[in-house]
Amino acid sequence: MKTIKFFSDILIITWDNESETIISYADLRKLCPCAMCGGESDVLGNVYGGTSVALNKEIKILKYNRIGHYGVQFYFSDGHKDGIYTFDFLKKHQKQN
Ligand SMILES: [Zn+2]
Repeated sequence: MKTIKFFSDILIITWDNESETIISYADLRKLCPCAMCGGESDVLGNVYGGTSVALNKEIKILKYNRIGHYGVQFYFSDGHKDGIYTFDFLKKHQKQN
């Protein structure tokens, strides 16, 4: 991952190969992969986002931490910060245009 740019309600991640992932904060919050939000892992270790999170169009991201070379932790404006979004996860869940 090269950069993350934050806009009013979306973020754009640029990967090392110059491809981009565009995802809304609302989608990102809804997809939170942490156990509390109902995220699950399959046998291959792929993590799927929670289904119990209501879509919140007003959600913002206050800050983020890079987690090693594989993921990002986002601090949401609703106080939630438990989900680690792996790069693979983010690439897979990007908004389709
Ligand atoms: Zn969560």
